[in-house]
Amino acid sequence: MAQAEAKYRRVILKISGEGLSAPQGFGIGSEALIRVAGEIQQVHDAGVQVAVVIGGGNILRGKIFAEQCRISETTAHYMGMLATVINALALQETLESRGIETRVLSSIPVSSVCETFVRRRCVRHLEKGRVTILAAGTGRPHVTTDTAAALAAVEVKADALFKATQVDGVYSADPKKDPNARLFEKLSYDRVINDRLEVMDISAVDLCQRNGVPIIVFNLHRPGNMKRIIEGEKIGTVVS
Ligand code: UDP
Repeated sequence: MAQAEAKYRRVILKISGEGLSAPQGFGIGSEALIRVAGEIQQVHDAGVQVAVVIGGGNILRGKIFAEQCRISETTAHYMGMLATVINALALQETLESRGIETRVLSSIPVSSVCETFVRRRCVRHLEKGRVTILAAGTGRPHVTTDTAAALAAVEVKADALFKATQVDGVYSADPKKDPNARLFEKLSYDRVINDRLEVMDISAVDLCQRNGVPIIVFNLHRPGNMKRIIEGEKIGTVVS
C-alpha cells in the first residue's frame, strides 16, 4: 500500500512489557518478540512512520518492587525505566534481523547502548523510515510508559496513539471475569476519565484529549490487527 493510501502517516505504538513476555508472564519470550516485530513490520511496510514506546512491566514495576523489597519507590521507578531499555534492545535486534532499520532513543542517557531522546532527532529518524523505539519512559519516576506514549504522540505530532493490549479493546467490565462485559467501539475522552475505564493512565488520556490525539485500543495477539487498523478497519476501541 502506498503511503498516501494509509489512514495514518505517523503513529505511536505503546506496547507493554507484558506484550514481550515469555509464557510464564515475565522476562522476554522469543516467540512474543518475533510476533510483535512481525506486526510492526506490516505497519512499517505499509509506509507508516512508527515510534514504539515500550513498557517494562515484564521485568519490573516500580511501585510493586518497592513494596516487595526495601527499596525507595523513586529508585524502583528508575529501575523500571531501565527495564524498558532492556526490552527496547531486544525489540531492536529482532526488528533488525528482519531487515528493518531502527533506532533506540532513551529518555535516560545510556549512551553506550543507544541514543538519548531528542525530539528533533526522533522526528528525523521517523521521516527516514526508521522504526524508532522510545525507551526509559518519560525519564522521570512516579509515572508510567502510558504517559510517555501520550507525551511522545504530542511531541512528534503523531496522528494516533495505538495502545496494544491483551484483550480486544475497552470493555464495560473485565471480560475475563464478567461474561456480560460489553466491548465499546467508540468512547469519548470524558467518559474514559469520568468512569475511570481501564484504557491508560488518566494523565495520559488527559494529555491526548488536550491535544486531540485519538487513542486506538486493540488486541496485540490477533495477527494483522495493526495493519487492518491503519487500512481503516474498525478494530478495537477508538477514544476520541
Ligand atoms: N516508569 C517510570 N517513569 C516513566 C515510565 C516508567 O518511573 O516515565 C517506571 C515505573 O516504575 C513503571 C516501570 O517503569 O512501573 C515500567 O513501566 P510500565 O509500568 O509503564 O510498563 P508496562 O506496564 O507498560 O509494561
